[in-house]
Amino acid sequence: METSKILVVEDDKPVRNLITTTLRMHGYTCLEAAGGSEAVMMASSHLPSIVLLDLGLPDMDGMEVIRQIRSWSSMPILVISARSDDRDKIDALDLGADDYITKPFSVEELLARVRVTFRRLAHLQKMEGAESPLYSNAGLKIDYSANTVFLNGTELHLTQTEYRLLCLLAQNTGKVLTYNYITRNIWGSSWENNLATLRVVMTSLRRKLSSSKDSEPMIQTHVGIGYRMVKIEN
Ligand code: CA
Repeated sequence: METSKILVVEDDKPVRNLITTTLRMHGYTCLEAAGGSEAVMMASSHLPSIVLLDLGLPDMDGMEVIRQIRSWSSMPILVISARSDDRDKIDALDLGADDYITKPFSVEELLARVRVTFRRLAHLQKMEGAESPLYSNAGLKIDYSANTVFLNGTELHLTQTEYRLLCLLAQNTGKVLTYNYITRNIWGSSWENNLATLRVVMTSLRRKLSSSKDSEPMIQTHVGIGYRMVKIEN
């Protein structure tokens, strides 16, 4: 597949080699960059499908790399970070990164994240072509034009806030949304009390979305960071 080109940005050569070898073994084409400015340049000249970005780079902060790429492209950026500090992940996601992997990670985890990102890309391309007012994920269906939600064929009665939260997650399926991003989108601010309200709304939304048929939760919690809607494969 010509489109599965991945730009791997990592200054630590053994780690970079491990990542690129793994990806190549699984049929992906890899481009490599050992620094931030090289990464920004390669992203614009080679237009990779996905960027795997280490945040700790010698010449430029990984955050700056995200900022520069986001100034002209929405290509998926998966942040790879040794920093266990959630603040970095939140900042990276708020700047427009799509997902994060914490070092040390397993090869399986890396491949799984890459697959999820490619699925998300394919889904986005399909949506663009169809301009569908309908969202469908396992038993969940959202009709954006009628503002209605169905679960396994039964209409759900959601509050306005629950509906907006569900739409926001659905429109960003596969992407981790930070608490900050969600509260700003729904309430226009990210105060502490909005966060408390978000938790309450999420609990209620999840209760309405749970059904005995779906064993896999559709909305994942990323503790201390945010939420993600996952595409359930049928
Ligand atoms: Ca590094």
